[in-house]
Amino acid sequence: MAKKKKITVAFPHMGNIYIAWSAALKKVGVTPFIPPYTSKKTLSLGTKHSPEAICLPYKLILGNFIEAIEGGADYVAMISSPGICRLGEYGSCIKNALTDLGYNTKYIELTLYDGIQGMYRFLREITGKNDPILFMRAIIIAMRKVFVMDDLDARLSYLRAREKVSGEAEKHFNKAVQYIMDANSNRALDKAKKLAFDELNKTQIDENKEVLHVDLTGEIYIVCDDFSNQNIVRELGKMGVEVRRSLTVSSFLKDAIIPKIFRKGETHLQRANRMAKPYLLRDIGGDSLECVSDVVYADQRGIDGIIHVSPFTCMPEIMSQNIFPAMRENCDIPILPLIMDEQTGKAGYLTRLEAFVDLMRRRKRKLAMGKNDEKPVELIN
Ligand code: SF4
Repeated sequence: MAKKKKITVAFPHMGNIYIAWSAALKKVGVTPFIPPYTSKKTLSLGTKHSPEAICLPYKLILGNFIEAIEGGADYVAMISSPGICRLGEYGSCIKNALTDLGYNTKYIELTLYDGIQGMYRFLREITGKNDPILFMRAIIIAMRKVFVMDDLDARLSYLRAREKVSGEAEKHFNKAVQYIMDANSNRALDKAKKLAFDELNKTQIDENKEVLHVDLTGEIYIVCDDFSNQNIVRELGKMGVEVRRSLTVSSFLKDAIIPKIFRKGETHLQRANRMAKPYLLRDIGGDSLECVSDVVYADQRGIDGIIHVSPFTCMPEIMSQNIFPAMRENCDIPILPLIMDEQTGKAGYLTRLEAFVDLMRRRKRKLAMGKNDEKPVELIN
């Protein structure tokens, strides 16, 4: 008798998130289909079939889906969420676009703000099973991988800013990622995590190097996705800057998925609600509340600068960028706003980064000369 073909499911890319969702799918017996990592080809495919003024993440996600379908995925899965911005419409728009293109591939949505229940429903639909223990195992390993990957990413940023040989930290990081990718159980993941950090820590660094510290905030997709932010963390690392991503998938999980009783300390959203006042009193969609509060948070910790990245036409982030000038009265920290779209050229963008780094360095020296004014740097990863 012919063996029943396993179904394959693809998600769109956003940084390293594929490591987590592919682990969950494998756990429930579904084959993950990882589309080619987002590239110029993905962008041009997505742009060709998108409304002109739609935001950059939509175009890239659509491009990922087209590449996944052309590569043979049986299902494409979209992470959706309600919201005041366009994200709430992404799902139906992408589904229509794929139908208009003549694709019959099954389309399925994972509603993140339904928390664990939403994930459970998704796994039940995709597998046709109803196995709570299996599904909980899948959710737990996926979430643990998200946390490990974010910790590794933060460590990479620390090492890259101090490495003696350019590119060495990233070489070890790529090997470390493979350990995490290959771990298929919680016990294996514990082992893999240790191996991954040991591997990354092989990087030779200059502990005494004077590095700058920058927080990276903005719309979460652009903050986490290195293709769409033009690998800003790497570029700054090469200039001797340690970057802390203010928005990460793990901080999102703490707010949206992990039940309150399992959380430790204040979450990003809780801090945002506290610190964004008096500049922004309520959620206006996207990540604007977090972004405004991130400026205050970075300033209070004495960080050298903050960079705000947002997609062209993103309404919530246009609002944040309009609030920043009013914040200067109380927050002395240098802020660099960067708007990304498919036209953003590398050379001009690098020039802006170099000028910003130069400004931060001069400011730091000036502050060091008038030592009393300098605030202590508290790094939280
Ligand atoms: S936050 Fe901005 S970029 Fe993201 S979906 Fe909403 S409008 Fe688009």
